[in-house]
Amino acid sequence: MFYALVVEKDEESGKTSAAVKQIAVDDLPDAEVLVAVEYSTVNYKDGLCVGPGGGLVRKYPHVPGIDFAGTVEESSDARYKPGDKVILTGWRVGEAHWGGYAQKAQVRADWLVPLPDGLDTRTAMAVGTAGLTAMLAVMALEDHGLQPGHGPVLVTGAAGGVGSVATAILAQLGHEVAAVTGRPETGDYLKQLGASQIVPREELTEVTRKPLEAEQWAGCIDAVAGAMLGRVLKQMKYGTSVAAIGLAGGAAIEGALITPFILRGVNLLGIDSVMQPYENRLRAWQRIARDLPMKKLEAMIRPAILSDLPGLGRDILKGQVKGRVVVDVNA
Ligand code: NDP
Repeated sequence: MFYALVVEKDEESGKTSAAVKQIAVDDLPDAEVLVAVEYSTVNYKDGLCVGPGGGLVRKYPHVPGIDFAGTVEESSDARYKPGDKVILTGWRVGEAHWGGYAQKAQVRADWLVPLPDGLDTRTAMAVGTAGLTAMLAVMALEDHGLQPGHGPVLVTGAAGGVGSVATAILAQLGHEVAAVTGRPETGDYLKQLGASQIVPREELTEVTRKPLEAEQWAGCIDAVAGAMLGRVLKQMKYGTSVAAIGLAGGAAIEGALITPFILRGVNLLGIDSVMQPYENRLRAWQRIARDLPMKKLEAMIRPAILSDLPGLGRDILKGQVKGRVVVDVNA
């Protein structure tokens, strides 16, 4: 038997409740690789899966946790053998399949990547899905021509998980980073991660009727969407790109007009970490191990244990979590 955070639904009231319980390997969904989980994390989607909304969960009882890192215990797939260190992100694990908020998880071999040299399981989860997404966004901007020296790169939702890692990676690569935050008290933290400019959220959330504004940003990683993305698109320099990764501020692009696209050739790149094929995930993890300053990563970590998760799930949905929560599932 081992411990897991199990979310159950009361069929009569429709209410869900989450509690740490003991379960057995036989309870896990069938798949090729049994992993002894070491660390998991708290992402926005985990907040949804742990909380009463549960919108992403397909079936109860459920074990959430959209990412984890650990050691292979058993494998019927030749690519992995007992003792291998692995990372899992995406593929609807923690939503449609039981996830990482447990001391063991059983998953498809295709969903894993080997832990790259230079990372341990704890640092891999300090990065987690949020950091992988940040790196995929950086790589997409590079593929569309972004280079250091082109001008400031804007990161929205900067004190959150994706934003924190994006800020640290961009700064490490030599970019000037303008970090947008609604929490002025995180200014020192963001500067420590490498931001050279802090932009208050209110400066970018007012919807204007102007078709275009002064060209300012050489690139943008946007975790917020909503009114902010509408404003940012109008401020992009000619021929630059916005990598849109999330919608913490709303699902619509408010106030956006077609002008930035046709008069400034701005690109809007959608980034999805969930269905990334193996090669892309591996390439991104290898770049993370190479380009993410580990000292800065330490500054982002907030440690947690399984029983902290219901509260942390609520916090992340309110936009109140700073940096990355790393869950030690064996503590
Ligand atoms: P976090 O909650 O850690 O960060 C989101 C940040 O956005 C907050 O910390 C806050 O930053 C800012 N924010 C929150 N609410 C608002 C608001 N109403 N208006 C403006 N800013 C707001 O979440 P993550 O970084 O983990 O994820 C961010 C988004 O990206 C989510 O929508 C998530 O679902 C999505 N995501 C997408 C992935 C993909 O594959 N595309 C993968 C991972 C996440 P601050 O306080 O600094 O303003």
